[in-house]
Amino acid sequence: MLGSGGAYRLPQLGCHCPNCEAARADPRQRRGTMSLWLHDEASILLDAGPDLYHQLLREGVERIDGIFVTHQHRDHIVGLECLETIVRHGQQGRPVQVFGPASLVERAQVEFDYLLRHSLATFTALEPGVPCECAGYWVMPFAVVHHAITTYGYRVERGGRSLVYLSDMKELPGGPPATAPLPQAMVGADLFFIDSSFDANGWVGPGHITWQEAAALGARCGAKRTVLIHFSHRVGFAALRRATGEHLVEGYDGQRFSL
Ligand SMILES: [Zn+2]
Ligand SMILES: [Zn+2]
Ligand SMILES: [Zn+2]
Repeated sequence: MLGSGGAYRLPQLGCHCPNCEAARADPRQRRGTMSLWLHDEASILLDAGPDLYHQLLREGVERIDGIFVTHQHRDHIVGLECLETIVRHGQQGRPVQVFGPASLVERAQVEFDYLLRHSLATFTALEPGVPCECAGYWVMPFAVVHHAITTYGYRVERGGRSLVYLSDMKELPGGPPATAPLPQAMVGADLFFIDSSFDANGWVGPGHITWQEAAALGARCGAKRTVLIHFSHRVGFAALRRATGEHLVEGYDGQRFSL
């Protein structure tokens, strides 16, 4: 887990709420922007936020085969700027394949045009429900509802193991997460990473679900382990920690999983 926070990270600059003060006092409670790194002989990222440079440096990542981006919000794409140097130095010019919704590809082609001009990356639009393969990983995109922006979740499989990654969502295409029909791609994963921006016992804003909804959705999908991610400072971590255990896990920066 390269980063486990939402767009504003923890602590938020200038905020002195208890969560932000705790994160200011204890570096282990700080949360950078959301990104997962999957690696064995291949190396894949899920999302690339503005903290990616420091995250890659921290973990010693010097080679990336592909990046799957959930949507075009800045906290998921700004890190694509890191590709220029990693491709030139880390992988002898071999370009990184970047995948995402068509709206993400359109934006990336403008903001990161130099990556295309210098053949440092390729951008490929994915359709929900149409799987693709990258460096031996089988990846299925599926649509979720997050503000008014086309947003995907991803199911990733390799060697009979699976994970689901849902960084930002409010609803499923069929309605609220508690009752909507479940996309097949969400069901029965070994690891289920899910947006936990808000807390049912606090202020709940638009665009994201609460950690309680996230935990229930993971259970509903039959996930072996649900990992709560994309936190904001609105989350009551004390109650969340009381609810976690073997099957429900609090995500944190630098966390590692074996599959
Ligand atoms: Zn986000
Ligand atoms: Zn705060
Ligand atoms: Zn977003």
